[in-house]
This record gives sequence, structure tokens and C-alpha cells, in this order.
Amino acid sequence: MKAEIIAIGTELLLGDIVNTNAQFLAKELATLGIGVYRQTVVGDNEERVLSAFKSAFEYCDIIITTGGLGPTQDDLTKETASKYFNKELELHEESYDFLIKYFEKNGKKLSENNKKQAYFPKDAIVLKNKNGTAPGCIIKGDNNKAIVVLPGPPREMKPMFKESVLPYLSKLTDEILVSKVLRVCGVGESYMEELVKDLINNQTNPTIAPYAKDVDVVLRITAKAKSEEEGYKLIEPMEKSVREILGDNIYGEGEAPLEHVVGKMLVDKNLTISTAESCTGGLVSSMLVSYPGISKVLLEGAVTYSNEAKMKRLGVQKETLNNFGAVSEETAKEMASGIVKASGSDIGVSVTGIAGPGGGSDEKPVGLVYVGLSIKGNVKVKKFTFQGDRDKVRTRTAVNSLDWLRREIMNL
Ligand code: ATP
Ligand code: MG
Repeated sequence: MKAEIIAIGTELLLGDIVNTNAQFLAKELATLGIGVYRQTVVGDNEERVLSAFKSAFEYCDIIITTGGLGPTQDDLTKETASKYFNKELELHEESYDFLIKYFEKNGKKLSENNKKQAYFPKDAIVLKNKNGTAPGCIIKGDNNKAIVVLPGPPREMKPMFKESVLPYLSKLTDEILVSKVLRVCGVGESYMEELVKDLINNQTNPTIAPYAKDVDVVLRITAKAKSEEEGYKLIEPMEKSVREILGDNIYGEGEAPLEHVVGKMLVDKNLTISTAESCTGGLVSSMLVSYPGISKVLLEGAVTYSNEAKMKRLGVQKETLNNFGAVSEETAKEMASGIVKASGSDIGVSVTGIAGPGGGSDEKPVGLVYVGLSIKGNVKVKKFTFQGDRDKVRTRTAVNSLDWLRREIMNL
């Protein structure tokens, strides 16, 4: 079965809003094993919407639209879908009652405009909207073609899809796609692909695919199966092979990002931590803070940007700064032990580097970063040279600091 996602709205074409609905639907359809070969965006214009329907149905079975379900004149998706299938709209009593009650509850009277939201073709499946006024619908035409009409606002569209469309679509397909995501840090996308090349070349079911994210890489293993259980059974041996190859570079699975994995490790092992950051300006501590529950172990984060602050807050020696500079192994070490001394934490992470674009030299180029780690009395430093603009250098620094910390905690 094939589907096309058609997002309707001139706002999308003008770039005023981002088409996150298509992203959500594409993921959901992939899980169902429904092929999506094309996504379309059309303005609020009957003629162009009709032509998009026509073109999509040349190859697909189902069209899913979002947007243009509201009460105003330019909301014309449902009307156009009905017109495409030559179906008349008639008042749907249940939706009409729902609308009247909805407006009563909000102390308003139902306007003529809003009444249009209660009109559907006679044999359409009406989809309840628990988070707004516009119900969605599934309009079936001849030759098993159907248009699923959903509202534009994501907070209305997503629950409607999950509650009503998903069960409808899963009845139509007898195979589903089950997938598992492994998250990798410390090896780049191309090197990882190299490592798992043999697995990729011999894959049938399940398949594996690496994707580069901003700073880390994910590897998705996907199986086609009759049930979720059968899917996971197929995934298991492939996952085992991947884990054998990538080992510790796999930091987690599913949606949890690195900072949550590290946050959880710290909390589970009851290791307190504090940070002293220069070029990252608090990014490391901010990432840790995104993990709910980190308050149990994160004591403090100091942004010590100037030399004075490094000396005053962290006790970095003046001679160290004079002899080796702020961006040096020695300074990173003193920053890490300094913040541990000041806060009394088990772990201290320090960062000092040159984020650019200016300020680099031959000896110390832009992207040069030292990360210090004081962990239970042991102080270590790692030198990194990152490519990219200021933001990239800063994010890469923060992510690599956390990844290093993760590996050190594992070896405790
Ligand atoms: P309304 O009843 O609010 O008019 P609607 O179903 O007619 O809803 P639109 O008018 O097309 O939908 O869009 C309403 C709002 O929904 C947009 O301003 C935008 O915030 C959001 N929206 C619409 N389409 C998308 C999309 N494809 N991706 C993300 N958000 C969207
Ligand atoms: Mg609208």
C-alpha cells in the first residue's frame, strides 16, 4: 500500500510555518509499512488541491491531508476532497450537536461559518476532534482509493491520527514495520558505515541504516513482520551483531539523548558533579539539566570566561595562565580540580577552547579545545580539534565531554 501526504496551506508555501505534520505522518506511516514516495505542499486553492489529488492517485492508494479544515472561506480541504470523489456534503448530526455544545461551553453561539465544520459526505467516516472544533474524516472513493482529511494544528492532528486513523490503516495492511534505534557517539557516520558495511551489504530482513544527527549518529534496524513480537525477534540477532562491532560506542537506544543517558548514570551511581566552562558558556551543565532528576547530583556549573574568573572562582594559578595560556592542558586540569574543590563534588568537568571565528593562531587554531575531568581525585585532560563554526565547535565540545564522561563512569 502506498500513501501520499499532502499538507495544505499557503502559510507553508510562504515559509511562515514548518511542515512538521508531514514529518510526524511520514514516521507513523513508515511504522505501518505503508510506502510514502512523495510529500506535497499545496496552497489553499481548490484547483491546485484538486490537481494534487489527481496526481497523487496516479500511483497511490491513500492520500492524507492536513490543514484547511477550519471554519473560514479559505479552509477548503474537505470540500475539495468531496468534490474530487463527486460526493455531496450533508449535515452530520452528531458533529453538529458536538459543535453546539462546544461553543455553549465556551459561552459562544455557533456561527454559520462554524456550522460548515459539521458537513460531511454521507458515507464518510467522521473522526472526532477532542482538541478543537474541526472533526476530520475519511472519504472513500471508487477503486479502494481514500482521502484522510486531518486538521492543521499538530495538537489536534496527532491525537486524531493516533486514535482514529492508525487503527483504520493497520486493518488495511497485514505487515508492519518494527524498528529499533541504537544511538552511537564517538565514531562518525562514514566510519560507522564502514564498520557495519558487511551487515549492510548482506541485509534483507531486517535492514539497517545509519543516520547522522547533529552531533551523534543513530543506527536504525527495521524488520518487516506480521506482529510487533515477530519484528523484535527478527531484530534481535542483527542487534547483537551490531553491538559486537560497535561496543561501547553505542550509548543508548530509542529516543533518549546522550545527556539523559549520562544524567541517569550519574544519578544511578549517586555521583555528584560540577562544571567549569569557558568556551561552551554553560552548555555542558545546561545539557545535563535537561535530564529530569539531575538535581540529585548536579551541584553547580560555573561559567568562567575571563582569566580573572578562572583564578578567582577556580583557583587557577596566575603562572599557569601566563606560561601556558587559558586554552591549555594545564589550565583545563586546574579548572577541573578547582571546581571540585569549590563544590565538593565527586566529578568536575572543565572546558576551555577557541570557538572562533577569530582568536585562533597557528599554534592554537580555532576549534582547539581542552576538556578536563576530575573524577574521584584523578585529573585527566583530553585535547580535541573540532571543525565547524562557533556553534558547532561549542556543541561538539559539550557532546564529546559528556561522551568521555560516560566512558569514564562505565570504567569506574
Ligand atoms: P484552523 O481551524 O485553525 O483554521 P485548519 O485545520 O484549517 O485549522 P490551517 O488553517 O491550515 O488548519 O492551519 C492552522 C494552524 O495549524 C497553522 O497556523 C499552523 O500553526 C498549524 N499547521 C497547519 N499545517 C501545518 C503543518 N503542515 N505542519 C505544522 N503545523 C501546521
Ligand atoms: Mg484554517
